Amino acid sequence: MAMLDKLDKLDKNDVIELTIEDMGSDGAGVGRYEGMTFFVKDAVTGDKVMARITKMKKNYGFARLEKMLKPSEHRVTPECELHSRCGGCQISVLAYGQQLAYKQKKVQETLNRIGGFAPELTERIFEPAAGMDYPYRYRNKAQFPVGTGKDGKLVAGFYAARTHSIIPVSDCRLGPLVNREVLLAVLAYMEENHVEPYDETRGTGLVRHVLIRNAFATNEVMVCLVINGRRLPAQDKLIAALRGVEGLTGILVNQNRKNTNVILGDVTQLIYGRDYIMDSISLRDCGSPDFPRTGESVDYRISPQSFYQVNPEQTEKLYSLVLEYAGLTGKETVWDLYCGIGTISLFLAQRAGKVYGVESVPQAIEDARKNAAQNGIVNAEFFEGKAEDVLPQFYQSEDADVDALHPDVIVVDPPRKGCDERCLEAMIQMRPERIVYVSCDPATLARDLKILCDGGYELKRGRVVDQFCHTVHVETIVLIQKKTS
Ligand code: SAH
Repeated sequence: MAMLDKLDKLDKNDVIELTIEDMGSDGAGVGRYEGMTFFVKDAVTGDKVMARITKMKKNYGFARLEKMLKPSEHRVTPECELHSRCGGCQISVLAYGQQLAYKQKKVQETLNRIGGFAPELTERIFEPAAGMDYPYRYRNKAQFPVGTGKDGKLVAGFYAARTHSIIPVSDCRLGPLVNREVLLAVLAYMEENHVEPYDETRGTGLVRHVLIRNAFATNEVMVCLVINGRRLPAQDKLIAALRGVEGLTGILVNQNRKNTNVILGDVTQLIYGRDYIMDSISLRDCGSPDFPRTGESVDYRISPQSFYQVNPEQTEKLYSLVLEYAGLTGKETVWDLYCGIGTISLFLAQRAGKVYGVESVPQAIEDARKNAAQNGIVNAEFFEGKAEDVLPQFYQSEDADVDALHPDVIVVDPPRKGCDERCLEAMIQMRPERIVYVSCDPATLARDLKILCDGGYELKRGRVVDQFCHTVHVETIVLIQKKTS
């Protein structure tokens, strides 16, 4: 009872001493005080801190770092001086090796907690996380909001953590150096031509975001200005300002007049060059003895609206692992659900008999078909629609090809919300030998794997592939196999 009495007294603004033992899924440090769990922003595993309680819940609370008593031995000084203000990199103060350990632990624990998989199993089957040698300058896509700074000047940068106020950042260390040149050119054009930035509280002004896509293999650069209107004034001046940017392939203007957090609107207009960039991905050796380096590569055409993995170096590792887990010999029938522009499908097609891709964004499906043609791949077929509609419909149609109905392998790579239950049910009915699940959210991965494994599959392999270094985002690949009984 004494402890309860003590707990009852804990209140907002109380200062407590905590040793940070873990980190939560948003990167906050986790410490315990008298059996209560506290989440402390900006604290990392190993820190000893004084923290001021900001909010109390029934079984846990939130606290702010008040004083560092002893910093963790895993702390490092991040390359970016804006790390504590910008909301982009939540864990860059943690040494990179520890970031990988944190992500792997998070995935395994989530599979245990939500998926019901035994800790001994996840411990045994997970291979060490695949990280980057140089975890900076890896992103091939950036979306900079544009606005007015406190001093009334034009700014472009990133949102401060949990807010919509813009911190000026012209050289984000996660992206390539050329982005800085693009941003400065766009801001100079706006200033000289009196083009107003968008004001989201009043819904006035014009330029909302500058979206930059870089193709690392070809050095091509696409710049897209998102505007709150129909037309960008003095377009020729913008073209002139950007023309000097090395690799510039196209300039586009996207119209988004809605008061929303969604960045792109529906209408995109090309004002210079072409409306896509070309990139190329090659398979990589991921250190696995049964998957030698092959040098296979595929060229891709990427439209502004299409999904494309943001970290090309790690994507090459991820796709190599997809192929390794898929275990293809040349004859197999494979479905690639949530296929985007056909990135994984086209690698699979080179080692399978037939590949069927499914994707809900029409523009991406169009890119996928063009990509297949461009690479001379004839054994990949693409369906436009939601996986949860296409797959059951296909399964129930009477004239469906029997190999397609009972594929050898299904690959899924859904967005964060995971697979729809109807999609999972259809997968179980189709009974492929193997399912390779690529996931960007451990919680929905765990939920979906539980359903699939209850449907007659077992967990065989798993690995974290770090696509989002310094952030809390986690990419995982898992292989499940049909139970033999
Ligand atoms: N495998 C691809 C894309 C993965 S991202 C790659 O590696 O590049 C997930 C994709 O799923 C996106 O292209 C998104 O447009 C698509 N998507 C989202 N919901 C979907 C659904 N219900 N059915 C099919 N595709 C969907």
